Formats: sequence, C-alpha cells, structure tokens
Amino acid sequence: MNQFTSRPPQPVEPEATLERWLTGPRFAPLPMRSAATPAPALSFEFFPPKNDALETQLWTCIRRLEPLAPRFVSVTYGAGGTTQARTHSTVTRLVRETSLIPAAHLTCIGASRAEVDAVAQDYWDCGVRHIVALRGDAPAGEAYAPHPDGYAYASDLVAGLKRIGDFEISVAAYPETHPTAQNADLDIDNLKRKLDAGATRAITQYFFDGEVFLRFLDRALAAGITAPIVPGIMPVTNYAQAKKFSAMCGTSVPDWMGELFAGTENDPETRRMIAAIVAAEQVRLLQANGVDEFHFYTLNRADLTYAIAHLLGVKPAVPVADTAGAAEKG
Ligand SMILES: Cc1cc2nc3c(=O)[nH]c(=O)nc-3n(C[C@H](O)[C@H](O)[C@H](O)COP(=O)(O)OP(=O)(O)OC[C@H]3O[C@@H](n4cnc5c(N)ncnc54)[C@H](O)[C@@H]3O)c2cc1C
Repeated sequence: MNQFTSRPPQPVEPEATLERWLTGPRFAPLPMRSAATPAPALSFEFFPPKNDALETQLWTCIRRLEPLAPRFVSVTYGAGGTTQARTHSTVTRLVRETSLIPAAHLTCIGASRAEVDAVAQDYWDCGVRHIVALRGDAPAGEAYAPHPDGYAYASDLVAGLKRIGDFEISVAAYPETHPTAQNADLDIDNLKRKLDAGATRAITQYFFDGEVFLRFLDRALAAGITAPIVPGIMPVTNYAQAKKFSAMCGTSVPDWMGELFAGTENDPETRRMIAAIVAAEQVRLLQANGVDEFHFYTLNRADLTYAIAHLLGVKPAVPVADTAGAAEKG
C-alpha cells in the first residue's frame, strides 16, 4: 500500500481495561431452574397432514414432543374449513392414542351456525373439551363477508360454543394489530369481547420483537383484560419465506433477523441453529419480563421446539433414548 491508497475508516478499538468490562452492558444469564423459577408451561400447534408422508411426519413430531407434557396441543383448521375432516381425524386420534390434551381450531367462515355447531357437538361427544375459536379468512384477494346464516366474528362463535358445552376456549390476539382492524384500540376491544363471551386465554399471532408483545400486554391490561395472552413463538429457519409470509399476516420482521441469516441461504444446518437461538432468546427476554407460558408453532417438526423447550428447562420426566428424533433430520 502506498501513501495514495485510501483505506476505509477502521473501527476504533475500545481501550482494553477491566473497568470497561465492569461497567459495560449487562445480559441476563440463561435461567437456572429452581422452585422459585419453575420451567414455563408450553403448548404446541400442529396442522393436519395432507397425505400419508406428512401424516408420518406429524406423528413422529407428536411422539417426540409428547413426553414434554405440554399444557395442550392444538390442530389448525384449513382456510374456509377446507381441512375439517383432517383436523377432526387428527384431533380424535390425539384423544384416542396419546396422553395429550388436544384443542381443535374451528372457524366461522363458509358455514352456517348449524354446521359449525354440529362440528362442535361432535367434538364434545368425542371427548374434546378445548376449542381455539377463530373467524377465519376469505380466500386470497376477497374481502371477508360472513355466511348469511353463520357466526360473523370469533366473539359470536365463542358465545355459540358456550351454548353447546362448557368448552375451554382460546382465541386469537394480534400484538401488531389484525391486518384489517379499523385501529389498534378497536382490535383490543374485540379481543376483550371474545374473552367476555367466554374464552379463557388468547394465543397471539407470531411476532419477533419482544417489546411489541410487552407493550401489547400493557395496552390489554389497560383495556381491562386479565386473561393470559400467550405469546405465539415461530422458530424461523427460512428468512426469505418468513419475510413473505409475515407481510401477509401483519408481522414485522426486524432488520437484525435479516443480518443474522445473511449468508446462510445454502447452509440449512447453520440456519436451524440460528433459528433455535433466535427463538430461545425471544422466549428468554419474555421470561425475564415475567411471561411463563408459550405457544409454539411447530410446523409439524419437533426438533427446534424440542431443543428450545430443553433450554427452557422443559424436559421429559424419563430421559428419551439417544435415537429419538433421528427420523426427523433436514
Ligand atoms: C393463534 C392463531 C391461530 C389461528 N388458527 C387458524 C386456523 O386454524 N384456521 C384459519 O383459517 N385461520 C387461523 N388463524 C387466522 C385467523 O383466522 C385470521 O387472522 C382471521 O383473519 C381473524 O380471525 P379472528 O378469530 O382473530 O377474528 P375476529 O376476532 O373475529 O376479528 C377479525 C377482524 O374483525 C374485526 N372485528 C371483530 N368483531 C367485529 C365487529 N363486530 N365489527 C367490526 N369488526 C369486527 C377485528 O378487529 C379483526 O380485525 C389463526 C390466527 C391465530 C392468531
């Protein structure tokens, strides 16, 4: 290099003193479990499988997570009720063949009250006692319009379900506001309406910024909501896909996530490790702020959720064999 070569500005090395370490920012350690800080309560979400291969994947996932004794596991309902039969068969198999407590998602869209009530009554008769009550979405590009004889909104569905049986009911909440809500305050009023109608818990849309969720809790409490609002945690392994999907459901994706995943596009192994760490950090921040229940969107894959649960101190009562989960690579 000669005297005319321009060099980019070099970062100034901070002075290496012990004082710098002693006065620098503080980070909380990973939580050590004790009687005073029990492991959090977890729940897991699955979607109903479309074919035999996905069915096998789902049940491998369920068997792997079952020993973690989640509070409940929920099974989604396809847009417009398209998976009604598959949701039903997954939920009833959970009742028959596992120790898990299933929660069936149920939506209002595209069905009359009588049809929705019949599905709910059938669940009750099969021993299902927990419903996640939702409005559902219109097909892409169409505005939502209630079925002429249907439940118009989730709050109406909650009230209808309570007339059928004393279901435990969870509803959806949106820390970043539902995409079609008139405004954030009216969206919180809607959440309160659902809880007042008989729901006992809200599960949130996934989010990545813990501060957004904590501010949402403040606003919910100020609006008179006292029921638990359980954060929905989505471990993300594919940043580009998550960014696209998040835009549709109104979840903001912070720039730091893009930076973390940059350069790993062809490196799935590293992406999975980053995904686990990001989700575990998110949970840890919320735990440090008093939150002790978490709902994981598993996408029917157990390994990330299992690893994060383990970090949080949620472990099987009896250690699993070394080979557990080996079938679920990739
Ligand atoms: C945890 C979770 C699980 C989900 N599971 C599924 C699933 O299994 N299947 C599926 O299809 N979708 C699912 N969804 C997506 C959900 O169906 C959509 O987000 C849908 O657009 C809204 O459903 P909701 O139950 O929140 O609706 P609602 O609570 O009824 O609210 C929908 C919108 O209408 C507004 N609103 C409510 N009442 C009124 C009123 N009286 N007048 C005017 N506006 C009103 C609300 O502010 C909001 O903007 C899930 C979402 C979450 C967060």
